[in-house]
Amino acid sequence: MTSTATDITSSTARELITAHHLINGEWSGEAVTQRMNPAKPGELAALSPSGTAEDVDAAITAATAAQPAWAALPAPSRGAILITAGNLLLERQAAIAEDLVREEGKTLAEAKGEVKRASDVLRFFGSLGWSATGEVLPSGLPDTTITTRREPLGVVGLITPWNFPIAIPAWKAAPALISGNAVVIKPAELTPLSATHLARALQDAGLPAGVFNVVHGKGRVVGDALARDPRIAGLSFTGSTNVGLALQEILNARRARVQLEMGGKNGVLVLDDADPRKAAAVVAAGAFGLTGQACTATSRVYVTPGIRDAFLEALVAEAAQYTAGDAPMGAVVSRQQFEQDQAAVRSAVERGATLLHGEYDGDPSGALLFPAAVLTDIAPDDAAVTEEIFGPVVAVLEVADYEAGLAAINDSRYGLTAGICTDSLARATDFAARAQAGVVKVNRPTAGLDLNVPFGGVKDSSTNTFREQGRSALDFFTWGKTVYTGI
Ligand code: NAD
Repeated sequence: MTSTATDITSSTARELITAHHLINGEWSGEAVTQRMNPAKPGELAALSPSGTAEDVDAAITAATAAQPAWAALPAPSRGAILITAGNLLLERQAAIAEDLVREEGKTLAEAKGEVKRASDVLRFFGSLGWSATGEVLPSGLPDTTITTRREPLGVVGLITPWNFPIAIPAWKAAPALISGNAVVIKPAELTPLSATHLARALQDAGLPAGVFNVVHGKGRVVGDALARDPRIAGLSFTGSTNVGLALQEILNARRARVQLEMGGKNGVLVLDDADPRKAAAVVAAGAFGLTGQACTATSRVYVTPGIRDAFLEALVAEAAQYTAGDAPMGAVVSRQQFEQDQAAVRSAVERGATLLHGEYDGDPSGALLFPAAVLTDIAPDDAAVTEEIFGPVVAVLEVADYEAGLAAINDSRYGLTAGICTDSLARATDFAARAQAGVVKVNRPTAGLDLNVPFGGVKDSSTNTFREQGRSALDFFTWGKTVYTGI
């Protein structure tokens, strides 16, 4: 699949931007849903099918049939396929990144980085085929050894959002597959091409038919059918908190395993002893990178009085660097999200907040380019401080001291990431222990994660049971067995 779709009236060009379901190794489904490029009004970015419950049924049937043979394959052989698929993604990085930019709106540099991340994730989990182990433990019985094994769940469902449309499918699929599960994935409607590239790489790498299936379409149709099917032994979801919590009820009712990674309202505490310019650069990267459309994005900042003015001045200077366009900041994903960003800023200003940077004066082209917005003098109960916006908007509030700042960071229904900017090792250590968040960053942006370490949140950000990424990702996709062997 190549990438340019400048003349989509030709049948070849349409084919290049068309995603299909992948069911039992066959590409299918009439591509009826149009996705327009958020940065280039009028340009068709992708076409995809609108799946039905019957498509989901067929995909689960295929996965159920394929899973035992896949699980029986030696783990290093499963891993070799993942590593080959990872290499293919890297070979195709430029073309995939162009598709990703067109359908999601992020910058080309961000998209290339994301494709590289998906490739690395596949290769990381592929290599675990050689080393994922159980334990050997002593027994209280004579002449007996105890070993533990990880067994695959069977067929698992994955439901993914649009904001990392190839990396998130990869970081869920890779641990599922290396553990011997078969997969049915429902990617986000807005970004059908990226997950299709992942599926194609796995298929081209030699993954047997039926082991990885893709069904495109609406969440309340395809996602719902996936969640309700009793053959789905576990569902891993990333997306909004409301949808996630509703899915949890469905999965809990049939006592199937569920993993949810959901919204965030990630705060950073900037203390007097920090360097204001370094702190501003950390906050800006977390708030405006990826157009603020990361679950880990910084969206509220608490500053102590001694650094407030210098920090705000430096932050406004940083925000001015993040002009929206091809770089350094991309487009907002959709008109709906754009209006959400605009409404959050407008409403805060109407309630008395000051917009220090990010006045939106309209774009005659209709491109969804939103300026990096910095709000201050804002009420702590303003929705821009308490609710996820998912755009390049950051609210800065003053707090009296470290304890007040820590309390403010923790005063949220969310708990995904939290950050602190300080030169004090004692404060940083205390913050790391007491911040109610699954990931803590000291002098680093809240957004941005390594692939080899656990990731997840607490409170309404996550199910807070199984972590994603790193070796800990294997826990969700396997169940433990303890074997006593006597001689
Ligand atoms: P969303 O919840 O609208 O959609 C996520 C996925 O769920 C999509 O594939 C969608 O089609 C599907 N879905 C929607 N309704 C459904 C239903 N009733 N049943 C089953 N599936 C359904 O979220 P989004 O707008 O795609 O993504 C943005 C959200 O994702 C933000 O809240 C963000 O914080 C969150 N997110 C979280 C993480 C994390 O790791 N915590 C990472 C990225 C994004």
